[in-house]
Amino acid sequence: MSGDPMLSCRDLSKSYGPVRALEGVSLAAERGAILAILGPSGCGKTTLLRLLAGLETPDEGSIHIGDRLVDGPGAHVPPERRRVGMVFQHYALFPHLSAAENVAFGLPRATEGDRRVQAMLGLVGLSALGHRLPHELSGGQQQRVALARALAPQPELLLLDEPFSNLDARMRVTVREEVREIIRATGTTALFVTHDQEEALFIGDEVAVLNGGRLEQLDAPATLFHRPRTRFVAEFLGQTGFLPARVTEGGLNTELGPLAQRVDLPPGEEVDLLVRPDDLSLAEDALGSARVYRRVFQGMHLLYRVRLPSGRKLDVLAPHTQFIAEGAPVRVWLNPGHALAGFWRGEALGG
Ligand code: ADP
Ligand code: MG
Repeated sequence: MSGDPMLSCRDLSKSYGPVRALEGVSLAAERGAILAILGPSGCGKTTLLRLLAGLETPDEGSIHIGDRLVDGPGAHVPPERRRVGMVFQHYALFPHLSAAENVAFGLPRATEGDRRVQAMLGLVGLSALGHRLPHELSGGQQQRVALARALAPQPELLLLDEPFSNLDARMRVTVREEVREIIRATGTTALFVTHDQEEALFIGDEVAVLNGGRLEQLDAPATLFHRPRTRFVAEFLGQTGFLPARVTEGGLNTELGPLAQRVDLPPGEEVDLLVRPDDLSLAEDALGSARVYRRVFQGMHLLYRVRLPSGRKLDVLAPHTQFIAEGAPVRVWLNPGHALAGFWRGEALGG
C-alpha cells in the first residue's frame, strides 16, 4: 500500500502450541482509514488484534504503529504505552459504574463531570444518559459507551473485535452506521473485526480476508467482491456459484451459451466462472432445459435455485413480480453487465 500507514505489520506469525493461529500476515492501514478484518470463526482475527494491542507477543514479524516499532526483533512495547483503544465483543463495561464513570475510567485523573467525558458522551449521542448504569441502557447504547471509553484517550489505533455480535440483526444495521460515523468524526484509524461479510463491506475502506491464519486478500470492498484472487474469497463473499467454461476464439462457451468475454488463454482451456445470482436471468419457457428447483421469497426479490441439464445448481435473482412455480421449466441466461471473475487452474483470471 502507498501513502502514510498508521499501522503496518510484516510477516506476523503466532502459534499456540501446535495451533498456527497466524502465519506470515503482512498488512497496513492508512491513517484515518477503517480496515475490516473478515474471516470465519477460528481464522485468527482475535489473535491479530491481541498482537496489535500488545496483549500477546508475536513469534515472528514486526508491528509499527505510526513511526514506532512496537514489536519486532528486540522490541515489545507494553499495551498501556501503545496508544491503542479496544472495543470487545462483550462490552466489558463496569456494571457498578455509570456510563460517564465508565468513560472517565479510560482517562487519567478524570471524573464523570469532566469536559472531555461530556464531549465523548456527546459524540456517541448519550449526553442525557451519562448517569445511567450499564443495565439501564440498551445493547446498542452500551456499545456506544464502550466506544466512547475507548476513544476518550485519543488512541492512534482503535481495535474493535466483533463489537455487534450481541445485538439483534436490525440493531446491528443501525449501530454499525452510527459507529462508522463516530470513528470517521474523530479521524481515528480503526481495525474492525467481523465474520459477517456484509458488515465488512459496509464498514471497511479496505477489507482484509483471513483464512486459517493467512491473509488471502486485502482490497477495497468492490475489488474484493468482483475480483477475488482466491476461490476462498470468492465463496466467502456473497452467494457464489461456479460455472465451467471453455475458451473459444471469440470468448467463452458455457452450458448457458456463449459469452463474449475475452480471456488471455488459448482456445480449448477450461476455466471456472464465478456467477452470482444477479449475473443471471431466467424466464418461464416450456422448451427451457433448466428447472426451478427451489424458490425463496426475499421480500424485494425472489431467489430461484435452478437445476441445469448437467445437474449443476445455480441461484438466480429475479424481481418479486416474476413468480414461477417450483418444478417449472425455465430458460436461464448470463446477463452480468461486466466481465465475470473466474479461475484457471486455481489462479484468478486476468492477474
Ligand atoms: P477468531 O477470532 O478468528 O475466531 P482466534 O484468533 O480467536 O480466531 O483463534 C485462532 C486459532 O487459535 C483458533 O484455532 C483458536 O482455537 C486458537 N487459539 C486462540 N487463542 C488461543 C489460546 N490462548 N490458546 C490456544 N489456542 C488458541
Ligand atoms: Mg475472535
